[in-house]
Amino acid sequence: MALKIKFGVLLTQCGEPIENGELIIEEGDIVAISSSPTEREAEETLDLSDHLLMPGFINAHSHLGLTALEKKLSPAKTFASWIGDLIPLNAALSDEERIRGIRMGADEMKASGVTGLADYVADPALLKSIVDLGFRSILFLETIGFQEDRAEVIADEVEAILKTHATKCNLGIAPHAPYSVSAKLWQYLDQLAKKYECLLSTHLAETDEEVQFIEKGGGPLVDLLKERQAFDMNWRVPGTTPTRYLKSLDVLSETVAVHCNFIDDDMDAVQAAVFCPKSTHWFGRTHILPVRKMLDAGIRVALGTDSLASNDSLNYLEEIRMADKLLPGVSRKEILMMATCFGGEILRLPCGKIESGQKADIIGFRIASQSKDWYDLPFERQRKKVDFYMLDGKF
Ligand SMILES: [Zn+2]
Repeated sequence: MALKIKFGVLLTQCGEPIENGELIIEEGDIVAISSSPTEREAEETLDLSDHLLMPGFINAHSHLGLTALEKKLSPAKTFASWIGDLIPLNAALSDEERIRGIRMGADEMKASGVTGLADYVADPALLKSIVDLGFRSILFLETIGFQEDRAEVIADEVEAILKTHATKCNLGIAPHAPYSVSAKLWQYLDQLAKKYECLLSTHLAETDEEVQFIEKGGGPLVDLLKERQAFDMNWRVPGTTPTRYLKSLDVLSETVAVHCNFIDDDMDAVQAAVFCPKSTHWFGRTHILPVRKMLDAGIRVALGTDSLASNDSLNYLEEIRMADKLLPGVSRKEILMMATCFGGEILRLPCGKIESGQKADIIGFRIASQSKDWYDLPFERQRKKVDFYMLDGKF
């Protein structure tokens, strides 16, 4: 069954804006776009000629399972102590609270236009609940293990999950961070990613504490691991930056690197990055991912919300506005590319731009006034949610 949508403005994210045209959607796919009204017949017609349409937003980094920690944490003196605060609070959540949080978080994301999602999932028992939310998604199995003698056992557990769930959901693997995953486990996970043809993602070069840990083998993160009996006494300090360390393990080629606040000198080792504007702001970071430099170097950067353990909402419209505030050298057009097209490309999802053959994941904003620049419209301060939401051709 074909659906015709008449639109006021269309941001395709792969060409110039189109005004007063039509889109044809069939079986969840975009099959045609025209820049003027056509005679083409369709079983159903939707008149959105007072709307600006664009691809749905892609949240390229989140932890929906932590949504129930809303307002329970505040930025601590050190990043390690924030993690130290998070662990017991997270462990104390009941299954019911966690599931309720996941659904609330998803509702907030959808209301603000998120159709595509990359979520880190720490507990495989949650995979079904997250898949059932209906996003076009990739779910990264979040994996932790700094003690090298546990690497094989942990990798086997990850492989078992890949085998059981790969047909039901689009999975990736997320070695948590360079300070929480041993080199050996990292290499096992990289081999699994190759074997199962899945993407890797990790938190990388997020804080100066991580740099201190990998370069010098000291600082609050060492203390945290020791306190938790998670340190490896045989560990050899890499003695370089977190990014160069992972490059030396040859595990970065298929990795989506999240945060990358301390990456200026080794940007070229990373092929795709995710910037989390409001989480970065929440922590009060002064050293942030060099988005302008990365885009200029042809490295794609997407946007993510991170979790409510380091953010006060999962509203994606607030994220693009925060990106606009934190990245004065990056245009709104580019921020919207990061929020859509780059996210789709980085995560290998068939969405993020509006062209024939892509999935019909489309959002819309009612046009209140004639804009000089259509790319400004989603950034308007009063917008808390989208006015039209379509996922896989369904609205
Ligand atoms: Zn994260």
